[in-house]
Amino acid sequence: MHTFEFIRPADSEAAVATASQAKTAQQGADVRFIGGGTTLIDLMKLNVETPARVLDINRLPFDKIEATPDGGLKIGATVRNSDLAHHPTVLRDYAVLSQAILNGASAQLRNMATTAGNLLQRTRCMYFRDTAMPCNKREPGSGCPAITGANRMLAILGTSEHCIATNPSDMCIAMAVLEATIHIQGTKGPRAISFGDFHLLPGSTPHRETVLEPGDLVTHVTLPPPISGSKQVYLKLRDRASYEFALASAAVVITIAGGNVTKARIALGGVGTKPWRSPEAEAALVGKAAGAANFRKAAEAALRNAKPQTENGFKIELAKRCLTHALQTAMNA
Ligand SMILES: Cc1cc2nc3c(=O)[nH]c(=O)nc-3n(C[C@H](O)[C@H](O)[C@H](O)COP(=O)(O)OP(=O)(O)OC[C@H]3O[C@@H](n4cnc5c(N)ncnc54)[C@H](O)[C@@H]3O)c2cc1C
Ligand code: SF4
Repeated sequence: MHTFEFIRPADSEAAVATASQAKTAQQGADVRFIGGGTTLIDLMKLNVETPARVLDINRLPFDKIEATPDGGLKIGATVRNSDLAHHPTVLRDYAVLSQAILNGASAQLRNMATTAGNLLQRTRCMYFRDTAMPCNKREPGSGCPAITGANRMLAILGTSEHCIATNPSDMCIAMAVLEATIHIQGTKGPRAISFGDFHLLPGSTPHRETVLEPGDLVTHVTLPPPISGSKQVYLKLRDRASYEFALASAAVVITIAGGNVTKARIALGGVGTKPWRSPEAEAALVGKAAGAANFRKAAEAALRNAKPQTENGFKIELAKRCLTHALQTAMNA
C-alpha cells in the first residue's frame, strides 16, 4: 500500500476545509474521509484508491440516531450499520432498513461499517478492483472489459456502453424506498439531497458515482415519518445464504386497504447501476387488487427496460420473481 498522511480533524469545519483541497471527490480522490474503512482500506491495498491524505471522521459528533421533530429519524454519518439495524425505532417503523442491512456483509463488517460509508461503497466489478485491467470507472477512457467479459454479477438496468457495474449496497435499496434525504456539509455550507438524486447513472462518466464535490462531508441521513400501517420487506437472492452480494433483491413498502394496494414504494438491488427505485412497478400496483397476478404485472413493469449482458440474462426473471415474492411476503408481514 502507498504511504499516506492520516489526519484526525478537530471538527467538521476542519474536515471540510482539508477535503476541499482535493482535486475530486470521485474516483482518484487525493483526500478521502474514512468511516469504518471496510471499503476504502480494501481499495487502498489494491492500489485502486491512492489518497495522499485520509481524514478520520470517527471522533466527530455524527454517531447518534435521534427522532426528528416531524416524527422522522436522523441517522448520523458514523452510526455503525449494526447499531442502525438493531435500533428499536428502526425495527418498529423502518423494518425494511433493518432487514436490508442485516442481509449485507457479515456481523464483523456491519460492526465497523458506517451509514455514510455504506452509501458510498464501491462496485464489486472485478475489473474495477484489478489495476492490471482497463476500466472506465477507474481510468476514464481505458475501456470496459466487463461488457464482453465476466459480467454475471453486473447490472441490467441503467447501464451504458461505458460501464455496466452494479451498485452493491443492500442498505441503499431500503433507503430508496424510505425516501431518505442525505445531508452534506460542504464549502458553501450545509445542503440536503433527495436519495434518488445522490447516485449518478454511469453514462459517459462512470468515474462520477455521486453528486459529491471536493470538501463534501456527509453528516447525516434523515428518514421521513413512517407510513402508517405499511408492510415492509427486503428480500435478497444470492449465490449462498450469507456473506454474499445480491444477484437480485427487492425492497417493498406497501399499504393495503379493502384488498387493494393504496400506497407502494418499490426498489431493486443487484440489478441496477445505482440503487434502483421503480416508479413503473409502483404505478402498476397502486389502486389494484393485492394479489399474485398484479404483483407479477408490477414485476414485469419494473424489468421492462432491462438490458441483459452476455452472462446475466437470468437476472431478469430472477429479479421479477424476487419482487413478486417480496410483495407476497409483505401481504403476510
Ligand atoms: C467481504 C465484504 C463483504 C461485503 N458484503 C456486502 C453485502 O453483502 N452488502 C452490502 O451492502 N455491502 C457489503 N459490503 C460492503 C460494506 O457494506 C461496505 O464496505 C461498508 O458499508 C462501507 O462502510 P465504511 O464505513 O467501512 O466505509 P469506508 O470504507 O470508511 O468509506 C467508504 C467510502 O465512503 C467515503 N466516506 C465515508 N464516510 C464519509 C462521509 N461521512 N462523507 C463523505 N464520504 C465518506 C470514504 O471516503 C470512502 O470513499 C461488504 C464488504 C466486504 C469487505
Ligand atoms: S463495468 Fe464499469 S467498473 Fe466494471 S470494468 Fe466496466 S467500466 Fe469498469
